[in-house]
Amino acid sequence: MMDAESRRYVRQRAGNRCEYCRMKQEFDELVFQIEHIIPKKHHGSDGTNNLALACFSCNNHKGPNLTGLDPKTGALTRLFNPRTDKWEDHFAWEEALLVGRTPIGRATIDVLAVNLSYRIELRLALTEEGVFP
Ligand SMILES: [Zn+2]
Repeated sequence: MMDAESRRYVRQRAGNRCEYCRMKQEFDELVFQIEHIIPKKHHGSDGTNNLALACFSCNNHKGPNLTGLDPKTGALTRLFNPRTDKWEDHFAWEEALLVGRTPIGRATIDVLAVNLSYRIELRLALTEEGVFP
């Protein structure tokens, strides 16, 4: 079980941002979730090195997945790990569109549906306000 202290720590470590799509909690109506990077289903631990803060949409799409297909090559690829991978190595913004710089970035964007139109529209509005990314 995750205790309250772990939850607080994970939220604070993430700066209240989704560790995948970088949305800020304050701009999302749904409460961000503490997720298991390696899901429980695959025997991932409750240790804070296996926990990340994720927005509802990223977490919901990630589900129990560990991998995705790189849309560019079709190759089976592991998902981004916020604890061991550096976000900037794998992702970049093209305005409100998130693009993958690597197979891991591209597969993660695809599985987590980071570029669904409503998500792009929210980021675009926030970008125009100057509060994102
Ligand atoms: Zn997210």
